Amino acid sequence: MKVLKFGGTSVGSVENLNKVKEILISDTEDKIVVCSAMSGVTDHLVKLVENIKFKDIEAITRNLHKLESKHSDVIDDLIKEQEIRNELKNGLSTLITEMFEISSQTYSEVVNSKIITYGETILTYIFSGFLKSIGVSNIVLHAKEFMFVDSVENPNIKKVSKNLHKVLDNNTQSSLYITQGFVCRNKEGQISHLKRGGSDYTSTIIAAAIQASEVQIWTDIDGLHNNDPRYVDDTQPISHLTYNEAAELAYFGAKILHPQTISPVVGMDIPVLLKNTFDPEASGTIISNKTYKKGLKAISAKDGITAIKIKSNRMLMAHGYLRRIFEVFDSFHTSIDMITTSEIAISLTIDNTSNLDKIVNEIENYAEVTVEQDHSIICIVGESVINDKNSYKLFEILNYIPVRMVSYGGSNNNISILVDTKDKIPTLRFLNEKLFQVPHEVVV
Ligand code: ASP
Ligand code: MG
Repeated sequence: MKVLKFGGTSVGSVENLNKVKEILISDTEDKIVVCSAMSGVTDHLVKLVENIKFKDIEAITRNLHKLESKHSDVIDDLIKEQEIRNELKNGLSTLITEMFEISSQTYSEVVNSKIITYGETILTYIFSGFLKSIGVSNIVLHAKEFMFVDSVENPNIKKVSKNLHKVLDNNTQSSLYITQGFVCRNKEGQISHLKRGGSDYTSTIIAAAIQASEVQIWTDIDGLHNNDPRYVDDTQPISHLTYNEAAELAYFGAKILHPQTISPVVGMDIPVLLKNTFDPEASGTIISNKTYKKGLKAISAKDGITAIKIKSNRMLMAHGYLRRIFEVFDSFHTSIDMITTSEIAISLTIDNTSNLDKIVNEIENYAEVTVEQDHSIICIVGESVINDKNSYKLFEILNYIPVRMVSYGGSNNNISILVDTKDKIPTLRFLNEKLFQVPHEVVV
């Protein structure tokens, strides 16, 4: 069994839904298809949650009507037979009524999760109906019935596996299953979600749970590129990546993958293919446990980074100092990304600033603290990249751009630098030219 995931753009219009249909019918193997909401829908639902917070009934009604008419138009354009159209529209109305009921409740985390995951529920419902209307038999599996992840960071694959197998055993009339990405249940069994962009993660959790033969993640670009195509011209898709490389790139900003996507399949020998819905023949990127080529592979950037410098003369020769600092971050559930130290100072970065004031207050009791916001981590990734003879070229950046921090050797597969976000694009372009444009032989 394969797992195929289609993102918001792939399911974002009638034309594209037809492309997805073509992809599905061109491959007869058994599959579980994971769908995102149509593009823009989850953003719309996030706004609806704001209306719920403020109990703004008028805005709630307006926004739910917009949601209904958007999907109703899709049904009209997608389906020929009047009867099936009406049937699907009735079902859509029922879902919208459920949403009205939830929207009248007092705001809570669960209300938020229930609402923002409806985009997936609506889309899978319509898409399944469409496929049936053209004779493609399929079954919708409700992710709420098996995606018991316990914690987003550490999903309980065994539990998902047990529940999913049960659901599959009860639904044997077809071997094309359609399910919702993003939605899950937490440890308490309440509706929750896998964070924005989490449908990718749904697909690899499912793949791990059923020991799938492969995962295909279908998006609107032909694989993971060696630099950010939004800012840099002439980027190239990368044909092969290892799990480690892909995980580092996803974590450090490659928008194409949710940061945790790779973790469920690591060690399971389940390749993850990144494919382009608009160019299905393009080979895309294969992420697996095989290393095809060592050395530099790609550059990515992660924004929204805060640099914190902690300076104290008392640090001189004092042991236990770092532990005290780390404990402060730990007590406020804030993880540290980059870190560099000198004898009297330590610089580190965080991306979650929700407890920043408290952290700074605490550390100011015994050290001088400077906070600098709006930084970006630029990450250079590849198996053994630190041994790539050409990686020195990256340091030529020092001639042109003020670099705030460097992390080299923390892992063999990653070199990171921290720059002011206003210098991000010139840095990406410079590195692209130095590291990828000038032909060089990779010597590791
Ligand atoms: N629909 C959700 C989002 O927009 C999940 C996803 O697309 O992966 O974040
Ligand atoms: Mg995505």
